[in-house]
Amino acid sequence: MSAPVALAIHGGAGPIRNADQSRETAHMEALVKGGRAMLDRGASALDTAVAMVQGMEEAGYYIAGKGAAPNRDGDYELDAAVMDGASRRAGAVCALQGFVSPVAAARAVMEQTPHVLLAGAGAAKFCAAAGLERVTDPAHYYTPAATSMAASEALAHGTVGCVALDAQGRLCAATSTGGVLNKMPGRVGDTPLIGAGTWADERVAVSCTGQGEFFIRAAVAADVSARMAYAGMSVDAAAAGALADMQRQGGDGGLIALDAQGRIAMPFISQGMRRAAIDAHGNITVRVFR
Ligand code: ASP
Repeated sequence: MSAPVALAIHGGAGPIRNADQSRETAHMEALVKGGRAMLDRGASALDTAVAMVQGMEEAGYYIAGKGAAPNRDGDYELDAAVMDGASRRAGAVCALQGFVSPVAAARAVMEQTPHVLLAGAGAAKFCAAAGLERVTDPAHYYTPAATSMAASEALAHGTVGCVALDAQGRLCAATSTGGVLNKMPGRVGDTPLIGAGTWADERVAVSCTGQGEFFIRAAVAADVSARMAYAGMSVDAAAAGALADMQRQGGDGGLIALDAQGRIAMPFISQGMRRAAIDAHGNITVRVFR
């Protein structure tokens, strides 16, 4: 029997105003099937997770990449991270302006620099030198995802992410976000902070979505792995426990987590969480609400 492969994606757990999410679910289903096909062909968890997140950045349906919303000054400052569990390498960018794919930038930081996180102007300078695709058309951001939320909804937010397990048993997590609507210039959420919004090791890969400030203060993504390591919890129990701790601080949101055996947990305590997964047995889940 070949080694199990599995993956899960999320399209954010922010306030969902449109009950009809058929466009998003159809998109996520096609994406996750493509991801499974990649893994079946022997693609790495890293390549697969980055491809899934890029697919969601490009769609404009989620608050990440093309669907990102501007900050209070009208600027688009985006955050992303990637972590390769087998090697424990990680890369991230925050408050990045002017580049099409923040997750590609995060991967480039991981692979081409001795650093883990580059911010703002320095991140943009690096991306330019690395030859990453720039945003040339100001209409690139058309914010259908953001405008589907009420402007008055303080700190409405959204994110995309993927966790993947490849045939060599390697786990990877990738996350990308426009952050929270009307955020202050320079605000950075949990997404690009390794251990808060994104984590992968040999045990589990985790990508979070929700009010980032609370995820930072609960170190949610790394906490899932710690609960598995120190308390011997299953991925389900660890994910639920980490999320409950964050909820006790007053936040909301959800996460996707995938262990080295291909078991998937996708808990959320928000109204909904756009999510799709194909487990090690090939079972497909695509859901928004409970
Ligand atoms: N966690 C993201 C942030 O705070 C937003 C979200 O996931 O909805 O930047």
